Amino acid sequence: MRNVIWLTVATGLSGMLGGCQSPPGRGPAPAVDPQLSINTLIAAPEDFARQRIGSDDYPIPPYAEFLAGVKICLDPGHGGDAHKRGYKRGPTGVREAEMNLRVAQYLRDLLAVAGADVRLTREVDVDFSLAERATLANEWGADLFVSLHHNAINNKPQVNRTSVWYHNDVDYRPANLDLARYLYGGLCDYLALPQITGVPLKSDQLMYDSGFGILRHVRVTAALCESSFFTNPQEEQRLRDPAYNLQEAYGLFIGLAKYAAAGLPRAHLIEPADGVVFSSHIPTSEEAGHPTLVFELDDGLRSRKSWGCERQMVLSDSIAVRIAGVELPFEFSDDGECCRLTIALPDSLQPGEHSVEVQFQNMFKNSVLNPHFVIELR
Ligand SMILES: [Zn+2]
Repeated sequence: MRNVIWLTVATGLSGMLGGCQSPPGRGPAPAVDPQLSINTLIAAPEDFARQRIGSDDYPIPPYAEFLAGVKICLDPGHGGDAHKRGYKRGPTGVREAEMNLRVAQYLRDLLAVAGADVRLTREVDVDFSLAERATLANEWGADLFVSLHHNAINNKPQVNRTSVWYHNDVDYRPANLDLARYLYGGLCDYLALPQITGVPLKSDQLMYDSGFGILRHVRVTAALCESSFFTNPQEEQRLRDPAYNLQEAYGLFIGLAKYAAAGLPRAHLIEPADGVVFSSHIPTSEEAGHPTLVFELDDGLRSRKSWGCERQMVLSDSIAVRIAGVELPFEFSDDGECCRLTIALPDSLQPGEHSVEVQFQNMFKNSVLNPHFVIELR
């Protein structure tokens, strides 16, 4: 292990000095093409982040307690691509796949201290397809999915700024914008890049008509960070540094902690719990002759039992129920303990499976994490 670390450092030095270092007691080392090299980051002990978390530089704020139990899937972009000469590398060969992974590992260490439940889509330098990464998050039932990347641009080495990307358009999944906004805030405050883009939250359809593959496949609340530009020579060198990787992870952590502290709203289908509705179902509402759905709305805040929690914290005007994009009327009630939404299904609804979307915002204007429910009308 020690030998591996030494070689890592030597490779890094030879890259920086533009020459080859000879290990003692051996002949001259073969020339390493920096654009094909691996271990391009400055080596750090495995517990680098854990030793520093909680120090004055990386304190855990009290509001991070609201991350406890939140299921967060971190996706370090790329991997297993060192053999592709110059692929996703900075000017001296520092690899994006490596910086993405280390930031993800440090972010996991931070989130773990706060009690979040964290999984990485990859732990080592291997590639997984975008579909495999998304499937891991979908099948696990992650609350949040954060894809970690660093940006590149041809022939503009001076460019270096932060952006966070969401899928499709702004109305597609409002919670994606919440996540993106908080992540951006953390990166902005803690990376503190001097350059800024006017609108830092970007649609992935700006890049591809169908958006980014990873965001298209993932069905949970998701965003993709392009934290800074490794094609900027100064930024490339900073991104090799474990302290800088930890700084970035800390910014993401603070963003996620502030997001969780503002409450993560959820909707739960409670009637019928199995999602199967019979058209002959006898409705609970006397005046309505339609099968009904009942959802419980969790604002993500009331369960904290804080003073004032009996007051309504769902913004009434933000509630919307849709089937195939068509808004349905609903009844909303809040008895101080439980918020409920009752929906009479329209007569025109054909038998079969339907996707019901339930949207609302809590008082912090955070939207429902997973707003889509499949029901079957029989
Ligand atoms: Zn990338």
